[in-house]
Amino acid sequence: MKILAINAGSSSLKFQLFEMPSEAVLCSGIAERIGLEQGNFTIKFDGNKHESERMIENHTVAVNLLLSSLLEHNIIADYSEISGIGHRVVHGGEAFADSTILDAEKIGEIAKLASLAPLHNPANILGIEGFMAVLPNVPAVAVFDTAFHQTMPEDAYMYATPYEWYEKHAVRKYGFHGTSHLYVSHETAKFIGKTIEDSKIIVCHLGNGGSLSAVLNGKSVNTSMGFTPLAGIPMGTRSGDIDPAIIPYMMEQTGKTAEQIVDDLNKKSGFFGVSGISSDARDITKAIEAGDTRAKLAYDIYTKRIAQTIAAYMVDLGGCDAIAFTAGIGENSAAIRSDICNQLSAFNIIIDEEANNRARGVAGVITTGESAIQVVAMPTNEEVMIARDVMRLAF
Ligand code: AMP
Repeated sequence: MKILAINAGSSSLKFQLFEMPSEAVLCSGIAERIGLEQGNFTIKFDGNKHESERMIENHTVAVNLLLSSLLEHNIIADYSEISGIGHRVVHGGEAFADSTILDAEKIGEIAKLASLAPLHNPANILGIEGFMAVLPNVPAVAVFDTAFHQTMPEDAYMYATPYEWYEKHAVRKYGFHGTSHLYVSHETAKFIGKTIEDSKIIVCHLGNGGSLSAVLNGKSVNTSMGFTPLAGIPMGTRSGDIDPAIIPYMMEQTGKTAEQIVDDLNKKSGFFGVSGISSDARDITKAIEAGDTRAKLAYDIYTKRIAQTIAAYMVDLGGCDAIAFTAGIGENSAAIRSDICNQLSAFNIIIDEEANNRARGVAGVITTGESAIQVVAMPTNEEVMIARDVMRLAF
């Protein structure tokens, strides 16, 4: 049975086609620059990569392009071979604590949550509707970034703000990257020989965006992103947590609107903002080697804030069996993993530098036998979770 996992943005549509239940990836790719003059379509399969440039007017055109390229490259012989489609949806609010089969009513509920995720949910719906237009009878499932964190206790998800902000305006911590935190916490429990039902795991999802979660017996009990994905640790271009009073102060200082200041916090902060060089961890590391002091500062702020968040989650979990590093930085940067963990010596965490250097893009324990807590590198796989949820809910 073939299942598509879809991640639609406002101008892009990423896809992976799985053979289920084996979870073999048959192909993957992306339609980019949708709606712009010159679009780009890439598909990868069997070690081949095909790229083409053409205008992709809208998401329905992107869906048609994707499906016809599956036929063209003999990945499928007929559209009827696509048995189900899973869509990543960023915000499920409090309405969705699990993935759901999509129908008109559910799409309406997702649309209503657009005020909480104005950049993401409408784009996700474009992807959903694109497929509904072309494959109306194929079951579609929404998989939410926020759902895994709906198990957080009230004292973790509530802010200490006026209560009516929550009651009237839904202001609370939601958390994101949930599909990755769920996948990695399960894989980590298995990897260290524990059952997920009896485990205390801290997941550090460190990519261009980044968030940590405290996972107790398989349930998220805290996470670092908040009402929006701007909160928590610093990221490639995002500030993470700051004193909120900085916003009106900087509005006054610069004459910018609140929206412009928040845009600076989203797009001109983090690694990029502090270093003035790049949002990419690899560029930051290179600049440090060349002696750049602001790159070093950006790096030091980053690793310290992550170490502090890990320490905080020892409180949420009452201890910890394992810390897992995942996503682009977490899976590949031995230096960042080591520089975070070396700030956690109060917890008797001892890194095995050789094992740490070996674990790049593969799962591996990176601590010594003497370490009080095992630390692992663990590749994430959000797409396979989406395909699994289609199987779980639609078949
Ligand atoms: P993601 O958003 O998960 O794709 O992660 C992107 C981030 O991962 C960027 O900051 C990259 O610099 C970082 N990254 C990817 N590969 C490596 C690597 N080999 N070493 C260090 N950082 C890496």
